[in-house]
Amino acid sequence: LARNAGEPEFHQAVHEVFDSLGRVFTKHPEYGEASILERICEPERQLIFRVPWTDDNGRVQIDRGFRVQFNSALGPYKGGLRFHPTVTLGTVKFLGFEQIFKNALTGLPIGGGKGGSDFDPKGKSDAEIMRFCQSFMTEAHRHIGEHTDVPAGDIGVGRREIGYLFGQYKRLTNRYESGVLTGKGITWGGSLVRTEATGYGAVFFASHLLETRGRSFDGARVAVSGSGNVAIYAIEKAQQLGATVVSASDSTGAIFDPEGIDLDLLKDLKEVRRERIEAYVAERGGNAEFRAGASAFALAAERGGVDVALPCATQNELGEADALALVKAGIVAVAEGANMPTTPEGIRVFKDANVLFGPGKAANAGGVATSALEMQQNASRDSWSFEYTEERLAAIMRDIHDVSAATAEEYGAPGDYVVGANIAGFTRVADAMLALGVI
Ligand code: NDP
Repeated sequence: LARNAGEPEFHQAVHEVFDSLGRVFTKHPEYGEASILERICEPERQLIFRVPWTDDNGRVQIDRGFRVQFNSALGPYKGGLRFHPTVTLGTVKFLGFEQIFKNALTGLPIGGGKGGSDFDPKGKSDAEIMRFCQSFMTEAHRHIGEHTDVPAGDIGVGRREIGYLFGQYKRLTNRYESGVLTGKGITWGGSLVRTEATGYGAVFFASHLLETRGRSFDGARVAVSGSGNVAIYAIEKAQQLGATVVSASDSTGAIFDPEGIDLDLLKDLKEVRRERIEAYVAERGGNAEFRAGASAFALAAERGGVDVALPCATQNELGEADALALVKAGIVAVAEGANMPTTPEGIRVFKDANVLFGPGKAANAGGVATSALEMQQNASRDSWSFEYTEERLAAIMRDIHDVSAATAEEYGAPGDYVVGANIAGFTRVADAMLALGVI
């Protein structure tokens, strides 16, 4: 830990995986002999670079860019870019570390990586976003490629940013290398379902959790946090399956809508107009309410029963107090759409209350899995239908659920999806690392 000082989120992610692995090393001493654990915690390569750009007032701004190429035992590094003022090397390392095991769980040939910048996209003009993305790519293009490292979106990086990044990559390399980035637009190499994939996938995963208790989304009351890409499409799929989704949030606060979130309105506010979530209440009317600074879970739990919680905003957003409130509200299952949104104390509360808990590296793997499907389509110069791609996504999420459940059982922790997902992901990577030698 001393060599990774000042990186608490990275420590948290490593601890959570290590806690699951004791039993693996008893069964597989060869992993210990080859120092797999020590190697897997050390990124293969870490890049930190200056990103200079000029704002609309002609002033030069400097942000910091990151790309952590964590592990390529299973395939090219793969993982998103996050643009948010809180991003540090430690944030990127925690996300990259999670990504190794998540990508392994998908069963697809992708390694783990992550990147981003402390650039704050909020309040920036389109032209500023474009100049920033072009500058970011001017350095990043030397280090990425369809066989090397394939970035995608994450917080603050969606279709618009991927477009500017891809345009600059194409210009610098003079190659239309579609497979270098995923999350592209449909007319320029993107895949249908990629936009929806993480949110849909989290709901598919939660459905499988619910099935183990003879329950379903039909008629369920669902609390969602966030109102970005993952949250919006988690709400969409949960509603399609018959649920009433009563909450959403952003960094300013949470909304509660007892009649169920009006998704067209939310999409318009967030995807088109890029407004704050408070605007929902004035336009929706009825009994919808906004509470500044509140957590979506605390608000939903206070207002009535909650069957399923889908945290889809950011890390450590669901702590012990929210978890206790959800348990009191009758929660049956939690599936993490975001990365590490539940604190260790929150996970403990759910575990003690026998709540079904799907950790992010399993429950939100649908996004990266569909990115890998986008790469397959790019490699074969093909494009698949929405229905076919969604079927592939649904099958992958079922497999991830089943392998996590079976692995938990095999290693003596039935029903513990944290243990199951960590071990199943880890052993796939560890076996490949053993086969590839000490590199
Ligand atoms: P978006 O940028 O589209 O949305 C993020 C949402 O979370 C916004 O509502 C944002 O509110 C809120 N949020 C972000 N940071 C904070 C914060 N510090 N406090 C409170 N709210 C916050 O990102 P995504 O939907 O893509 O990502 C959400 C989560 O899902 C992240 O953890 C990401 O790593 C994870 N994820 C995303 C995948 C994808 O395919 N996009 C794949 C797998 C995981 P505001 O607008 O006010 O900042």
